[in-house]
Amino acid sequence: MSKQPTLIVVVPCYKEELVLVHTTQRLSAILQEMIDTKQIHAQSRILYVNDGSTDQTWPLICQLHQSHPLVAGINLAHNVGHQNALMAGLSAAVEKADLLVTIDADLQDSPEAIQRMVELAKEGKDIIYGVRDGRQSDTWFKRTSAQGFYRFMERLGVQLVYNHSDYRLMTKRATTQLLSYRERNLFLRGIVPQLGYDTACVYYDRTEREAGESKYPLSKMFSFAWDGITSFSVKPIRLLLHVGLLFILIAIGIAIWALYNYSIGHVVQGWTSLILSVWFCTGIILVGMGILGEYIGKIYTEVKDRPRFNIEQELW
Ligand code: UDP
Ligand code: MG
Repeated sequence: MSKQPTLIVVVPCYKEELVLVHTTQRLSAILQEMIDTKQIHAQSRILYVNDGSTDQTWPLICQLHQSHPLVAGINLAHNVGHQNALMAGLSAAVEKADLLVTIDADLQDSPEAIQRMVELAKEGKDIIYGVRDGRQSDTWFKRTSAQGFYRFMERLGVQLVYNHSDYRLMTKRATTQLLSYRERNLFLRGIVPQLGYDTACVYYDRTEREAGESKYPLSKMFSFAWDGITSFSVKPIRLLLHVGLLFILIAIGIAIWALYNYSIGHVVQGWTSLILSVWFCTGIILVGMGILGEYIGKIYTEVKDRPRFNIEQELW
């Protein structure tokens, strides 16, 4: 990497008119200082991605672009959600940049950490995760649910970086590799650790949102978590198979018990056959669904069409 890499900071914005002026001040001060001290190239930029906001966000970005030399912007025709907006920004920026940072517009994740991220990138790391030190600024509910989610994902065998959201730096080659994941159901936090490059973490304190309100209400949080689970794990399908097998085992137990009762004449007419059919049939249906699920899981993996490998280095 050149001594002065070009850095592009990709910032997804959805209805962020209240924070953008302040965000621009803080980010451009940090970038300008790094340019002045020759840590990064003067071509470095802040790239705002307007994710189909219905408020004054885009006119404001245009205005900021006029008045600040470091501000660039792209405008998405409609709202595609945080993860897709990030991908849009990264694909627009990857040709022009050596290093790419993604950060939320509200600057809850301290942008001062960018400087340390750049240093680590210069030392040869390809992916540097921003990891929050604690969750003091979150509500009790968000904290507990988030931690439960990380643990649950771990159980399902999905590799995640604990307490890392989408604040990270990636080199050009890591970003290019990330962009070759063509799937629609994006869960970037799950994909990035799969890229397999050398990584590092930078720790920071997460603060409250400066202004405006969270664009992740509870319902979106759940659907995001559900996306994360179902995009990375076929274990829920396998669970069906296991439950089905369990039902068949129970059916066998009940069969013995029912036949015993039948033999000593302790039953109402028709009960034995009824109870046996209920358990056996449910078991067989569940096993059938589980087997179908295994195939659907395979089809799912195929259609995601993820890259099969990522060559880190070649020596000829
Ligand atoms: N965002 C987006 N599209 C959406 C929702 C959110 O680009 O449909 C952006 C938003 O502008 C912000 C980032 O995603 O920059 C994270 O959103 P927010 O800060 O509201 O989430 P929270 O920090 O509350 O989880
Ligand atoms: Mg936020």
